[in-house]
Amino acid sequence: MVSDINPRDGLQAIENPHAGLLAIDTHVDIPWPEGPSPFEDGPRCVDLPKLRQGGVAAVCFVAYVPQSHRDAAGHLAAAGRTRAMLHTIAAMAPPDGSGGILTRTADEIEAAYAAGKPGIIPAIENGYGIGRDLSLLDEFADLGARYITLTHNGHNEIGDAAIPLRNLGDDDMQYGGLSDFGQSVIDRMNERGVMVDISHAAKSTMMQAVQRSRAPVLASHSCMRALCEHKRNLDDEQLELIAATGGLVQITMVSNFLRAKARSTDVTVADIADHIDYAVQRMGVDHVGIGTDFDGGGGVKGFTHIGQAPNLTAELARRGYGREELAKIWGGNVLRLLRRAEEVAAASRTPANA
Ligand SMILES: [Zn+2]
Repeated sequence: MVSDINPRDGLQAIENPHAGLLAIDTHVDIPWPEGPSPFEDGPRCVDLPKLRQGGVAAVCFVAYVPQSHRDAAGHLAAAGRTRAMLHTIAAMAPPDGSGGILTRTADEIEAAYAAGKPGIIPAIENGYGIGRDLSLLDEFADLGARYITLTHNGHNEIGDAAIPLRNLGDDDMQYGGLSDFGQSVIDRMNERGVMVDISHAAKSTMMQAVQRSRAPVLASHSCMRALCEHKRNLDDEQLELIAATGGLVQITMVSNFLRAKARSTDVTVADIADHIDYAVQRMGVDHVGIGTDFDGGGGVKGFTHIGQAPNLTAELARRGYGREELAKIWGGNVLRLLRRAEEVAAASRTPANA
């Protein structure tokens, strides 16, 4: 890749290729029901001091709901947990300005970055949280959720997952992709500017979601099947469809998605860079980004917490990625996707489309 250093920040960039990047991590979990404070440099892989240390501007923090029974009681509990977690995520941005800033739009992320404040982007991991109720999707969008991972492990009301859960009675597939309800969920997500996250979804669900969605889809935390055979990883056909429709794959740091049968202590930032290289060669640099899955299983040698983000950037720079490419991979691409989702939502509100 051709180096493209802006002379304005050239010297700084040569010394530290991470300096001056608007970096966004699209997938980080929060401890639940309670855990160490996000405001102090503690045991979490991602807290506000470590974001500053690592030069990472904004993070999608997820309200993660494990798949369980798909009955009224299960759905009620899942909605309650999603709601409570979204409030906890919003509390990382207290009104007195002492923490992060709740960033609901691409413009707000850029403004928070310009103000030197960590951007807090709420998201939901597992559409189980809305059960069979689109009004919950509206409620959670109002709370700021900017993407919903359609499924986690285990099928839900929206569609089939890549990994069925036998203990919940799952067959290999239930719908052969998206359910009818799942189609209406994607329509409503488009109307609300909520991005469609296809990580964890079955390939059939993912392919149908790409066809259905009017905004490009996102894989918030996934790796390359060609480099590591794992059901959670995306194969070349999936990559080609995502790229052809303007979507984005965010490479994750989960060691057994990066290298088969490897011990997490043997996997390094070079393995992450291998997956990024492959994704870039296959899809182009406009379709690749980073979603660590920190505090949810992510972390490799040399990148065990978000404060070490510059180590990955240094590895990419060593491999020849220039300033412009690093800016796209670290945040520019996801900002483009957010803006596109916002445009699709705005267009669906215009009288012409009513
Ligand atoms: Zn996940």
